[in-house]
Order: sequence, then C-alpha cells, then structure tokens
Amino acid sequence: KIFSGKVALVTGASSGIGKATALQYAREGAQVVVSDIQEAKGLEVVEEIKQNGGDALFVKADVSKPEDCQNLVKKTVEQYGQLNIAFNNAGIGGEANPVGDLSIKNWNKVIAINLSSVFYCMKYQIQQMLQNGGGAIVNNSSILGQVGFANSAAYVAAKHGVVGLTKNGALEYSAKGIRINAVGPAFIKTPLLTEAGMQEDTFQMLARLHPIGRLGQSEEVAELVTWLSSDKASFVTGAYYAADGGYLAQ
Ligand code: NAD
Repeated sequence: KIFSGKVALVTGASSGIGKATALQYAREGAQVVVSDIQEAKGLEVVEEIKQNGGDALFVKADVSKPEDCQNLVKKTVEQYGQLNIAFNNAGIGGEANPVGDLSIKNWNKVIAINLSSVFYCMKYQIQQMLQNGGGAIVNNSSILGQVGFANSAAYVAAKHGVVGLTKNGALEYSAKGIRINAVGPAFIKTPLLTEAGMQEDTFQMLARLHPIGRLGQSEEVAELVTWLSSDKASFVTGAYYAADGGYLAQ
C-alpha cells in the first residue's frame, strides 16, 4: 500500500470528489482525517473507512475560517502525530450571473470558500509538514482554473487563484520536501451540480462539451489526486493536471 504509515487530510470530504479521495487514501493505507462542515455525512465516510479496515477521524472545519483550518491541522496531529498528505478540496459553485450583475455578497463568499480557504489550509499544513519531514499537498482547482466560463466569474477567478497559490507554494517549499500540485476536473457528476438544480437536459448539454462524450466520476479525479499525493509523483511539483475528458484540448 502506497500510503502505509502516512497521515492524510481531506477537506470537503463528506461528498463527491473529496469523499472518493478520502476512501482511496484509506484503501492505500493512510490514516485519514475527514473534514467538512457536514458532520453527519462526514461521520458516514469515517464509518465506511473503518468498515473497510481503515483508520479515520472526522474533524468539523469551515475552511473559510482561518482558525478552523489551524484547528484542523492541530486535531490531526493530536490524533495521529503528523501530517504527510493534504487534499484541499472543499468548494462551492457560485451565483450564475455576468460580472455586471454578480452580487458583492456572492463574490466574497465564493472567494472565501474556494480561494482564501486554500491559502489558510496550506499555511497551517506547510508549517506542520516542515516539522515532520515534508509532505504532499494537492489543491482542487478546475478546468475553470485555466479558462473562463460565462456567468461564473467568482468561481473562475477563485480557481485561477488556486493555480497561482499552488505554483507559489511549490517554488517556496519543493526544496524543503513539500510537493504542491493542483488538479483540474471538468464537469463531474457530484452534488455540486445536482444540488444546483441542474436537470437531465443540462447534463446532456454539459456532456457534449467534453470530447470524451460524458461527465466525469469522482473516482476518476480521486485516482489522479492519489497519484499526485504519492511518492510515485516524486518529481512532480508546481503543476496543474487536468482530469477533464479532453475539455481543455479544444
Ligand atoms: P460536493 O458538493 O459533492 O462536495 C463539496 C464538499 O465541500 C461538501 O461536502 C460540502 O459540505 C463541503 N464544503 C462546502 N463549503 C465548505 C466549507 N466552507 N468548509 C468546509 N467544507 C465545505 O462537490 P464536488 O463536486 O465534490 O466539489 C469538490 C471540489 O471539486 C470543489 O472545490 C469544486 O469546485 C471542485 N470541482 C468540482 C467540479 C464538478 O463538476 N463537480 C469540477 C471541477 C472542480
């Protein structure tokens, strides 16, 4: 198992891509800290990991709050003694409006949850990883960290920002043993889309935007995140990797 003896943390781990990644980390032998604002669903993920013979802990954290991100790392170390791997994944969609009509409130909310959160999490994760001999951080950006998408300005700006943060972190810490990369999923069928009230015709329209002809699955993103988090990716840092069914090739 590639993560035997390692401690991994996943934000937004109660659902979708974060949940799939927490389960894969555990399957590969990591002790996993499952973190989210949704406690009941997070505890279910912990239970599933334990039933599969793994070890996990739920820690509630709202990643838009720096003190929660700091506490998350603290609780991880209290329980498992170290932090080796972090997947900064928690995120939300945004108000569907062009820039001129986008509310200031929604702009601030999306930037707080999708961008500032990644800075807060990285800050405290890096401080800990430096103390325990390095680690690997993967940040969840999006295809919309590389290109625009009409009526999604806050989301697009936040996800581009995540790529910038990833590059800067890698410049500063790769020589100190912390690799930092970003992943860019295209449209993945998770509650992020389904709970935004999208109907089947919208899914079919979105599927056509992907040369592969369908939306992605959370597990297909988790595979890439797992590889980037592992020593198999030992020379990979500061990079953006898409898992996008060819979306960005167009
Ligand atoms: P999801 O809604 O299934 O999961 C997101 C999780 O984040 C939820 O469990 C939610 O409770 C949690 N969360 C929301 N706000 C939070 C906060 N303030 N603090 C802590 N946790 C919070 O969605 P998903 O599709 O799995 O999204 C995960 C990540 O993937 C997001 O960053 C999203 O932007 C990104 N992404 C998703 C898609 C897609 O099409 N689904 C595409 C590209 C990128």
